[in-house]
Amino acid sequence: MKKAYKILISVIVIMIIVGIIMFFVLKKTDNLPKAFDNKKNYRGSQKPNEYKYLPAEGRKFNSSELALINDPDYKRVYDKALEMGYRFMYEVPNANMETINGIMVTKPTKSNFQQMANALEIATGDRIVIRSGYRSVNRQYNILKSNLSVPYSDSDIIDYLDGKSYPGTSTHHTGRAIDICLESDSFNSCLNSNYWINGNGKRAYKWLKENAGDFGFELTYPENARSMKIGAYFEPWHWEYKG
Ligand SMILES: [Zn+2]
Repeated sequence: MKKAYKILISVIVIMIIVGIIMFFVLKKTDNLPKAFDNKKNYRGSQKPNEYKYLPAEGRKFNSSELALINDPDYKRVYDKALEMGYRFMYEVPNANMETINGIMVTKPTKSNFQQMANALEIATGDRIVIRSGYRSVNRQYNILKSNLSVPYSDSDIIDYLDGKSYPGTSTHHTGRAIDICLESDSFNSCLNSNYWINGNGKRAYKWLKENAGDFGFELTYPENARSMKIGAYFEPWHWEYKG
């Protein structure tokens, strides 16, 4: 009887040890945390399941994302991004992209943009060009580190995440988001909503609002972006090819 009792205790102890080991092994997985399943609370215009490649729920973090998440100096930024409902995007492999004016975008983004730009020029006489397209997660990681150097306060984190994307969550990682400008103007002048509403971009923006959808493009952050999305402002220069 005593021997059976000892065996029973041993089995229980072994099961507890195995349970603890399993807990840590499963916890170590680098899949997205549950917070990213919150479908109501996300940044950007991607609606879950609407596009089979976006957003990247359940994808593995890449090495630069893991480096940032595991960096104790920046853990607070990651936690805040989760809390704010940032969603991770797929980063498109370079092989699936082409360049246009030296800027990388996906093949259909390029061909449809070219058609759209031609139609816009015929209709208005204005020539639009892409000034920014694909951006790597690693680049966004460097932007974060240069804008938010240690030590930073909680309000610094909020200010940063309110205007800029957390690395891995920018629609530019998909190769389908573009920042546009009139060919004749500098990129900086186009990163201003006034340029498109009252300035040189006015005619092009009006035409795009009416016609971009025919070429598969949508404005990611429209005029009411602020009320719709966390951390989003009206960006009339930022369009996404959605096919
Ligand atoms: Zn953009």
